Amino acid sequence: MDINENSLFMQKHHNLVEQWQQVLQQIEQTRQQTGATQPVQLIAVSKTFPASDIATLYHAGQRDFGENYIQEFSDKTNQLSELSVIWHMIGHIQSNKSRIVAERAHWVHTIDREKIARRLHEQRPAHLPPLNVCIEINIAAEDNKHGIAADTDTMLDLAMTISQLTRLRLRGLMCVAKANSSVAELKEQFRHMQSLLQQLNKAGFSADVLSMGMSSDMDTAIACGATHVRIGSAIFGHRSYHENQQM
Ligand SMILES: *Cc1c(COP(=O)(O)O)cnc(C)c1O
Repeated sequence: MDINENSLFMQKHHNLVEQWQQVLQQIEQTRQQTGATQPVQLIAVSKTFPASDIATLYHAGQRDFGENYIQEFSDKTNQLSELSVIWHMIGHIQSNKSRIVAERAHWVHTIDREKIARRLHEQRPAHLPPLNVCIEINIAAEDNKHGIAADTDTMLDLAMTISQLTRLRLRGLMCVAKANSSVAELKEQFRHMQSLLQQLNKAGFSADVLSMGMSSDMDTAIACGATHVRIGSAIFGHRSYHENQQM
């Protein structure tokens, strides 16, 4: 590395840590301004960014990272096996690729059918604690999105199934809000998530997680009770692929 490359490298790391700190500050600020009482966990969504970026933030103090794609998850968990990263799978999982997730993830936010729940349960190694899971809700009933219908009975059916799978621990619900929603529309979606979580607990489950809020809608999500926000571009910068290709 010559001097110029090296200073570019330093600059990049500096910006990354700074952006991460700004997001943490913004979370705290939003909690205070909205009177949100729940703790809010930041999941840094590192998809498409290199393992070295994860390592940089890890050494700055970030522990929870989110990945969407199995191959990338596999590569990064190999590269970073020395670090005690808490890995969140937040992308859709095909059942023929579930094993590595069962073996290496700490959380799966995208349980949307019984089959994937059963496979993760069967494949979760006995020496590990149960896998933390969330049910993914297709909150705006979009054709191109994964997740179950935002309907209490559908949710309770899947929750009941998950509760019988001892290698999984049902923690709560997850959604991706509809793109380009107005603040009022976002509120409607996130409030609906909140009420589904209440229904879940009323039915006897003890779920405490609402995984919702991304770079563009984090403030509204926190105001509506988000406990886990999944933030990518506000920390790492713009991703260089067309979003729809890989969702
Ligand atoms: C990419 C992604 C995020 C992060 O999105 P940003 O807009 O970059 O913050 C969060 N959740 C899911 C499910 C994602 O796919």
